[in-house]
Amino acid sequence: MKRIQTQVGIIGAGPAGLTLAHWLKQKGISSVIVELRSREYVEGRVRAGLLEQNTVDILNELGMGARMQKEGMVHDGVYLSFDQERVHIPFAELTGGRQITIYGQQEVVKDLTDAWLQAGEQLYFEAGAHQITDIDTNCSKIHFTHNGEEGIIDCDFVAACDGFHGIGRKAIQKDSYRAYDITYPFSWLGILANVAPSTDELIYSYHQNGFALHSLRSDTVSRLYIQVDNDDHIDNWSDDRIWEELALRLGTKGWSLQSGPIFDKSITPMRSHMIDNLSSGRLFLAGDAAHIVPPTGGKGLNLAIADVKHLVDGLIGFYKENETQLLDNYTELALRRIWRAQDFSNFMTTLLHKQDDHGSFTYQLQKAKFDYIKMSSAYRTTIAENYVGLPFESYDY
Ligand SMILES: Cc1cc2nc3c(=O)[nH]c(=O)nc-3n(C[C@H](O)[C@H](O)[C@H](O)COP(=O)(O)OP(=O)(O)OC[C@H]3O[C@@H](n4cnc5c(N)ncnc54)[C@H](O)[C@@H]3O)c2cc1C
Repeated sequence: MKRIQTQVGIIGAGPAGLTLAHWLKQKGISSVIVELRSREYVEGRVRAGLLEQNTVDILNELGMGARMQKEGMVHDGVYLSFDQERVHIPFAELTGGRQITIYGQQEVVKDLTDAWLQAGEQLYFEAGAHQITDIDTNCSKIHFTHNGEEGIIDCDFVAACDGFHGIGRKAIQKDSYRAYDITYPFSWLGILANVAPSTDELIYSYHQNGFALHSLRSDTVSRLYIQVDNDDHIDNWSDDRIWEELALRLGTKGWSLQSGPIFDKSITPMRSHMIDNLSSGRLFLAGDAAHIVPPTGGKGLNLAIADVKHLVDGLIGFYKENETQLLDNYTELALRRIWRAQDFSNFMTTLLHKQDDHGSFTYQLQKAKFDYIKMSSAYRTTIAENYVGLPFESYDY
């Protein structure tokens, strides 16, 4: 039996778990991470790519931003398109210079993992946590299996950063929270393609055939999505059919989409989910372990990092100032931003996806919102400040 002792035991080496580990280390607090999957799997998992200003600032402050600064693409705005009409939201101009950076989640994970292991810190891959115990004592335990051997991490606190399918949320007493859920009647078919982006900034588009998004990864790699039905299958979508549909849905006068070889293709369901209690005794949830947002607002990864900020504040309070108020208030503080992100993600999703027949009441409401974006700089500012992420101080109310 492997026995490990640390101050904070972390389950999951995704963006939340790794950022937490680095931040605690910077503050002189020890931690150990167990990760269910292999290093190759985690570092190759293609997901988010849109980093809010807050996330970029945090990674830089942790000394993890060098490659992101070199390879990331900084954007000052975004395009929203409706029935082939495109408007630009210049968010840097509307938010006092705040920006987003396009840098793949897997690159963030690689940078954080490399730095952690190079510093000689402990991270066990292919080490699945299967039980969390003693969270009502000051010696909590994470039980895990690694290379067929059982192990236990003895720790002061457990941080469950183990994503939507992890064990952390299940360890929170069911009668201590309310769960909220929306399952959308559509999914995203996402591709990565070896082709230069046909746009300088992201394009989100409503079309009568459904939603489409043109995102970017680098000067030579594009990331694009189209709305498909939940029961659709990837085999129904040849590369040619995907490019045809993307060109149609993203198209506007005088603009054309460049196509290229597709090297990754997958379908992701769209869902909003959360619980409104993020802790039990010495166990704290952060990131997708506690909430899922549809990716339309680009909030999932950023919300995970924002949770970590509140958790770090609480743990610093505990270890360095001998007070527990911030830890006690962790759920309340994190929920403010989580609800904001849920609302914005839902807004973007319902504005831009085809939900009902083209021309229906629902469609007219979507179009009325889009027309309002065109006419009101106040509305554009609302979208911009949510898109780039409000500063942490905004939530001190
Ligand atoms: C297609 C797609 C596009 C997206 N686009 C965006 C975007 O543009 N912007 C954005 O901000 N977000 C986006 N997201 C969401 C974003 O990817 C997630 O919100 C983010 O990964 C959350 O990070 P996390 O660390 O909380 O969880 P995860 O990244 O899920 O990490 C959890 C880790 O815990 C591990 N784990 C699970 N169970 C156990 C266990 N029992 N023991 C040990 N380890 C365990 C998992 O293997 C995983 O590595 C997107 C998601 C998808 C699917």
